[in-house]
Amino acid sequence: MKSFEVSERKLAESSRYLAGGVASSLRAAMKPTPLFVSSGAGSRVRDVDGNEYIDYLLAYGPLILGHAHPVLTAKVHEAMQQGYTYGLQHDGEIRLARRLTEMWPSADKVALSGSGTEAVMVALRLARAHTGKTKIVRFHGHFHGWSDAIFTSFPSPDMKLAETSGETDEVRPGTSGQSRSSLQEVILLPWNDPEALENVLRARHAEIAAVITEPVMCNNGCIAPKPGYFERMRELTAELGIVLIFDEVITGFRFGPGGAQERLGIVPDLTTMGKAMAGGIALSAVVGKLEIMNLIDRGTVNHLGTLNGNCIATAAALATIEELTLDDGAAFREMEQNAIRLADGLRILLRKHGLRGVVNRTGPVFHLMFIERDEVTTFEEFAERDAGMYAKFAELMLNEGVLVRPSGLWYLSSVHTEEDVTLTLASADRALSVLT
Ligand code: PLP
Repeated sequence: MKSFEVSERKLAESSRYLAGGVASSLRAAMKPTPLFVSSGAGSRVRDVDGNEYIDYLLAYGPLILGHAHPVLTAKVHEAMQQGYTYGLQHDGEIRLARRLTEMWPSADKVALSGSGTEAVMVALRLARAHTGKTKIVRFHGHFHGWSDAIFTSFPSPDMKLAETSGETDEVRPGTSGQSRSSLQEVILLPWNDPEALENVLRARHAEIAAVITEPVMCNNGCIAPKPGYFERMRELTAELGIVLIFDEVITGFRFGPGGAQERLGIVPDLTTMGKAMAGGIALSAVVGKLEIMNLIDRGTVNHLGTLNGNCIATAAALATIEELTLDDGAAFREMEQNAIRLADGLRILLRKHGLRGVVNRTGPVFHLMFIERDEVTTFEEFAERDAGMYAKFAELMLNEGVLVRPSGLWYLSSVHTEEDVTLTLASADRALSVLT
């Protein structure tokens, strides 16, 4: 058994000074204790007790090039020689914005921010200003950051939805202290349900500014859209004067150079991106159609932020994009191959150990869940999983030297190797044998 004694001691110390003992509430969930890290290199991270892990948490997504990637590190160092941030314009911003418009078919122009939450805030504001309407449609099980405007608790699976439309007025805040009035602008719908969407959009389009969706429901079950769902969503929103926002904070720079939308063949009006975009340095963006983005040019919409477009972040993003697009995007293909190997290997192991479970994979991301089903295609089905059993599995994997997110979502980086995958499957084999 690994010892986590130093991490435990540090958590006690940290809790005396840092609210919650961790810097983001989600991190407190890790069992047996939130880990304190001493260093990371490539696909590995090392904690203060000297334990080393193959890392599939990847800082909740951003570390697409792994830890301390030499090219990214060198480019950031180089940029820092000229200063960190100016509150003035510089070439890095132009080069990055131009690159994004070249890579993303839906990007005529770009607005840079610091986090995914901020990018979503900007997108919602642009949509409201563009349409002159205020309501936002969002979906069960999706996550769009933690601003008061959009953060909701996930409804329980037994919550009754109005029979005709599928919508609910019972949009519950995600946290105590959240403004209830801002959530009055939110309409919550089941995802992957074209009829519920059409009913509500047709009935209420005069008040709906935007529909915001993850292109793949990565945050809860890694659930792919049903064939035709997004085509219908795109047609309806275009017909009814509603802005379609793809939240690609997870999928952007992970599903390919043009994100999930490129794979799906859908061109939204606005897209938010963050996480992997700068390889682990804080940066996010909204990109979109000229007629909407021009609201910022004209000063109709304010987009603010002291550290927006700072040169460390733009250098990191340019370096990350360059690495990811080398050799015609070989990194994306390798990540996906390793994700396939892992997901297939885990399915075989579930069967070997007589465990019911599902591994939902789309592209280079997958969600492993213990559930009495053969497939999981909706949030409501996903809600039936045994989350406690998975948390136990995650803890067993930690003891094996494999770091996975306690919720079940696995990320791969461009530096994970086939050998990492083989070692991970051997660890999972042992962990599952203890679990049964
Ligand atoms: N949108 C999606 C799809 C996310 O998964 C997240 C974070 O996990 C966010 C937005 C918020 O991003 P950030 O944590 O950078 O504020």
